[in-house]
Amino acid sequence: MQILTHPNPALAEHAETIDPHSDASLRPLVRTMAEAMYDNDGVGLAASQLGIQKRVIVFDIQDELGAICNPVIIERSAETAIDEEGCLSVPGINVPIERAVSIVCEGVSIDGERVVLEADDLLARVLQHEIDHLDGVIILDRLAPEQRKAAIREYNSRSVAM
Ligand SMILES: [Zn+2]
Repeated sequence: MQILTHPNPALAEHAETIDPHSDASLRPLVRTMAEAMYDNDGVGLAASQLGIQKRVIVFDIQDELGAICNPVIIERSAETAIDEEGCLSVPGINVPIERAVSIVCEGVSIDGERVVLEADDLLARVLQHEIDHLDGVIILDRLAPEQRKAAIREYNSRSVAM
């Protein structure tokens, strides 16, 4: 399944809360998302990136697939870090994004069980990035106006080259 890329308007939509108990399409969706993530060498993917407006994310930073529905960040560290981030929906560019270094994320598993995930460093960054997608926010939206202009210029020049 094709990953939508900027400036597809679906990437700016707010995804809907889901109920894993009654949503029979959830398991196949998670499989499709994982495939799309692995096919593109990503470390995370939100359903919104496939144009499916459901609050589901998948991630894999250490050869273990994780999936969370309705993820909410309930705690974030005051300490932040700026690091280069890429996005499968903005292919070809990396931009510096400031994120909390550690977070606590609450949600439900695909079986409908409540899950609480404590995450640091890369996993914390990936979760914050993917949850942003569910709120219609991409990395370009997190940049200051001048940085954003430069990043979009670079992105457009790369898209033309491809
Ligand atoms: Zn992304």
